[in-house]
Amino acid sequence: MSLSLHAETHEVFNQVPPLDGANLYRIDLPLQEWTQRFGGGWAQARIDAYGALAGGELMAAGFLANEHKPVFHSHDRYGRRIDLVEFHPAYHQLMSTAIKHGLPSLPWTDPRAGAQVARAAMSYLHSQADAGSGCPLTMTYASVPALKLQGDVAEKWLPKILSTQYDPRNLPIEQKTGATIGMAMTEKQGGTDVRANTTHAYPLGLGGAGQAYELVGHKWFCSAPMCDAFLTLAYTKKGLSCFLLPRHRPDGTRNAFYIQRLKNKLGNQSNASSEVEYRGALAWMVGEEGRGVPTIIEMVALTRFDCMVGSSALMRQALTQAAHHCAHRQVGGRVLSEQPLMQNVLADLALESEAALALTLRMGQALDNPHDEQQAKFARLITAVGKYWICKRAPAMINEAAECMGGAGYVEDSILPRLYREAPVNSTWEGSGNVQCLDVLRALSKEPGVLDALFSELGDGHGDRHLAAHIQRLQAGFRDTADIQYRARQLTEDIALALKAKLLLEAGNATVSDAFITSRLGNGGRVYGTLPRGVDVEALIARSTPHLL
Ligand SMILES: Cc1cc2nc3c(=O)[nH]c(=O)nc-3n(C[C@H](O)[C@H](O)[C@H](O)COP(=O)(O)OP(=O)(O)OC[C@H]3O[C@@H](n4cnc5c(N)ncnc54)[C@H](O)[C@@H]3O)c2cc1C
Repeated sequence: MSLSLHAETHEVFNQVPPLDGANLYRIDLPLQEWTQRFGGGWAQARIDAYGALAGGELMAAGFLANEHKPVFHSHDRYGRRIDLVEFHPAYHQLMSTAIKHGLPSLPWTDPRAGAQVARAAMSYLHSQADAGSGCPLTMTYASVPALKLQGDVAEKWLPKILSTQYDPRNLPIEQKTGATIGMAMTEKQGGTDVRANTTHAYPLGLGGAGQAYELVGHKWFCSAPMCDAFLTLAYTKKGLSCFLLPRHRPDGTRNAFYIQRLKNKLGNQSNASSEVEYRGALAWMVGEEGRGVPTIIEMVALTRFDCMVGSSALMRQALTQAAHHCAHRQVGGRVLSEQPLMQNVLADLALESEAALALTLRMGQALDNPHDEQQAKFARLITAVGKYWICKRAPAMINEAAECMGGAGYVEDSILPRLYREAPVNSTWEGSGNVQCLDVLRALSKEPGVLDALFSELGDGHGDRHLAAHIQRLQAGFRDTADIQYRARQLTEDIALALKAKLLLEAGNATVSDAFITSRLGNGGRVYGTLPRGVDVEALIARSTPHLL
């Protein structure tokens, strides 16, 4: 039988070449520059290696792990309670690759200057391939300072937490080669208000720091419930305290930690989030009794930092796809990236992405200097400012990037829908937007030296009159304490913009800093693509467009 002459209905043309397999580090000039600038240059080879993985096999795994969502098994076939979550092999590949490359451990096992920046850069690459696995990776990384407050518990757990082997087996910690850690604070009646927790802890002996307790209660959100242990808040007679609650008891039996069901989430689908109950679950107290919130805040500060990393990463991946698409797609015989209105949009997205990365890695640099009092105060403030502003900007930015790709950006194959669904979680968990803004006020008003640390970092505007005027307005905004809670979002936004402008100015690329300052501190519009006249949009686009090697 001969093929009909009409079998081929059309020729496929004017479609964009795939970006598959691109090294996400090599195509990201801003990432290379900012990593170097903030002290992570020595780790360039390992970041580069991770960039190749992230754009290649991890990107492919990310698609699979999000398509095949985790499945909860409450019982085995004989009716015995097992509380297991089954993941697609691609999820395990994402986890094992990240752990092997030190994503949760690098700054703790090799704490030289720049290690926090290098880890953040690798995490930024990983989150572009899959954000869901970033949740347990982040919590494991972030658990370390809190666990170190309890030497005896840390001695047993840290070697497994800092291991570069991923061991997903559901076994007691003694039998495992590596461990992951989760966090459980939020209850039905209160997430922000953890003091409303109703979970109680009963001592098995004398009680106190490091001692064993049994917990009775529940948590309404407990992500990555296959972790080996969870930092958990519960009340004792002396108040809210922090505990490490393992999946197994030391005798090898399962702990009384029961998963009720998995959350059916908007995004973050490769990761499981669950509701759990404790029916006399064994746990050891971490830190001082009654000081559970300050103890777990040691962890939360770092998970908030990783919300900055994660949202910056989502924005970068969205930009990468949009810039690549527009560099190839023609409309009316001209590629989109050469058409003035699209240039305005792409350049604006590139500015947002780069400024978010700059602030994020500046925060990494502050974490790399924990013994410098000024840096510690700065980090305290920037955690809340950056968590608020970067996470708030991401959903709209990703939406705009998707629109640059037309219909293709609305289709799952393009990754944009996944990035868009993922973005809001970073502004919700680990303290939602308003909570961050209130935390900014708390840090500035209650913690001595934080306000000075901010204004000494900002300086006098680095010779730029727009930034100088902005800083003066900001100072006036803080001097006037009337209605300050009501104005907290505006003040936090203004701090974020001032810091980003200052970082860009200092870095010395006037194309980037001038465009940022004239659009963000000047009279820019309210949507992306409203840059004022005179911006070198072509240079900004070229700086962020992945050129296929
Ligand atoms: C996918 C996902 C996974 C999660 N995983 C975990 C986990 O592993 N462990 C865990 O402990 N939690 C987890 N959470 C819970 C998350 O941290 C909480 O949902 C969050 O902290 C908000 O708490 P809430 O839901 O009780 O909202 P609420 O506390 O009721 O807050 C509702 C809104 O009110 C705002 N608000 C609160 N106080 C004020 C105020 N004084 N003034 C103005 N506005 C205010 C908040 O910003 C928020 O927007 C997860 C959440 C999600 C979505």
